Amino acid sequence: EYPAIASPARTQAILNRYRLSAKKSLGQNFLVDLNILTKIVEAAKIKKTDDVIEIGPGIGGLTEQLAQSAHQVLGFEIDQNLLPVLKETLAPYDNIQILNQDILKANLPKIVAELLPGDRPLKVVANLPYYITTPIVMNLLASPLHFESIVVMMQKEVAERLTASPSTKAYGSLSVIVQEMNQVDISFIVPKTAFIPQPKVDSAIVRLTKRENRSVKPFDEKRFAGFVRGCFMHQRKTLWNNLLGFFGKADDTKETITKVLNSVQINPTDRAEQLTVTQFVQLCNACHDNGI
Ligand code: SAM
Repeated sequence: EYPAIASPARTQAILNRYRLSAKKSLGQNFLVDLNILTKIVEAAKIKKTDDVIEIGPGIGGLTEQLAQSAHQVLGFEIDQNLLPVLKETLAPYDNIQILNQDILKANLPKIVAELLPGDRPLKVVANLPYYITTPIVMNLLASPLHFESIVVMMQKEVAERLTASPSTKAYGSLSVIVQEMNQVDISFIVPKTAFIPQPKVDSAIVRLTKRENRSVKPFDEKRFAGFVRGCFMHQRKTLWNNLLGFFGKADDTKETITKVLNSVQINPTDRAEQLTVTQFVQLCNACHDNGI
């Protein structure tokens, strides 16, 4: 019987034996605090009936804890050098599959249909590589697959942007676009001392679930995202100026924008950061309804 992979002594022993040094370029920071891993699995509410997708299993510390609670775990690890390590560390488990693939290039619906048959509830759990946190999260959110929840570790600063409220420093297009479709919560903060090697900043576990009861929805999610980015384009400009930048400065466009802002009771001199998510949806839809 081995101690958990994620115990500091065993992790160090594995790294030494395989002469591995964590690759900074791939965002390799291994979790060595079993208590944190347990809390991650709890935050994801993993049950024996759930299939789990893990991004970046590393040397298998989180994967092992997931396998003990889940039906099946499917891991995507880009670093080929870690495959023999994972093969050994995860040998005691018969419910783990590891693919040597870049998660940003993987055809998830096809792979899930092949490797996780049975239509079980699907959850994503990961200690994300920090250099591609945002593209990974955005890809997952845009996936045609239904994830019951996405529970992922990321830099605290990115977590704060994802969960930010209007009129705060961290509130921006990312906050609006993600919160429009999802309930986003920080489950807990993870100090940098929980990793080998230690990252420069603290981390946070973020839980994303689809919002069920939205009062208003954008007429088109992709166009909504573009619209929101347009509204935040120049931070110091007013909403009015950013809207002219986005839709153009023709006289009839100005007239329409004035009319639309009036109809949704938003002040043209406001800044994008003052608008709630619902106000963005109302504004975007009203622009569309008025032909701009
Ligand atoms: N899960 C391990 C843990 O918690 O200790 C390791 C997490 S480490 C922060 C991120 C992992 O993601 C590394 O193992 C890295 O090699 C892997 N990775 C980086 N880019 C990736 C990509 N594009 N696709 C899949 N895995 C990736």
